[in-house]
Amino acid sequence: MSIAKKQAASLIILGEEIRPGKSYQLNLDVAKLHTRTPILVPVIVNRAKEDGPTVLLMAGIHGDEINGIEIVRRFIYKKLNIPTKGTIICLPVFNIFGFLNVRRELPDGRDLNRSFPGSSKGSLAAQFAYHFMKEIAPHCDYIIDFHTGASQRNNFPQIRCVFSDETSKELAKVFNPPFILHSNLIAKTLRESVSKKQNKILLFEGGKSNDIEENIIEEGLNGAKNIISSLGMRNYKYDISKDRTPILLSKSKWLRSPISGMFHIFINNGVHVQKGQLIGHVTDPFGKAERKVISNLSGYIICVNESPVVYKGDAIVHIGNE
Ligand SMILES: [Zn+2]
Repeated sequence: MSIAKKQAASLIILGEEIRPGKSYQLNLDVAKLHTRTPILVPVIVNRAKEDGPTVLLMAGIHGDEINGIEIVRRFIYKKLNIPTKGTIICLPVFNIFGFLNVRRELPDGRDLNRSFPGSSKGSLAAQFAYHFMKEIAPHCDYIIDFHTGASQRNNFPQIRCVFSDETSKELAKVFNPPFILHSNLIAKTLRESVSKKQNKILLFEGGKSNDIEENIIEEGLNGAKNIISSLGMRNYKYDISKDRTPILLSKSKWLRSPISGMFHIFINNGVHVQKGQLIGHVTDPFGKAERKVISNLSGYIICVNESPVVYKGDAIVHIGNE
């Protein structure tokens, strides 16, 4: 992989000059709480003495996606964010207002990840997006954005990218998750805005919201180490190495519940299923109705809805195929 050499001798982030060989904790200051309490978004920057690419590890764009926050926190705590070449920026909790309430959205209900590229005079979400695009994104050659499934949806660890973008696809393979899923750019997302600026971004999805899952943390840490070491920015030791080739999934489809009721699943997340295979049952609570859920295609289970109660038409399993 080619190593970007964008890093200039003088690097200024959020008004602070970032000197070679130094660490900084900066703050993104967008708005106060309604109590006038200042709320700062910590941005941790480590620059090596030797020039090289800049990588941003970020999480918490959705305030209840704790796995991602824990991945970036642990990266910092274990001092894995100190490069021997280039700069590593860590932004563990971007949507700090959402995180305060352990909610996906900002207090006004807006989704920060549908508010890009933002504006300086827009909603709070738009202002967050604007400051990020103006003050942080331009410094980053590579961004890894950590997410989880929403509410009870548990994503098997996966990287999402556009398959026609060969560099992103190669980067996704370097990350080495169990699955790499083709996913078109969605309007007003961080991924779309950053991609338009020609910066490379990988979207990691792992586990579900409001949870800390050790296997997901491990996948995230390993993937970030893989990317950073492949860019020649640092060599890491691995606690557990993953000897695997990621499975590329170019298409995916949700299987929906045939009726409302209680969902009993018979298969594990991540497994391969055949068309016609029994996935589970949806039952009424009174011992009368029991409906089979049959897979309508062959492929890998990449997300499971762990909600015990579902409504007719609810997405229950996400199946990806090659
Ligand atoms: Zn998310």
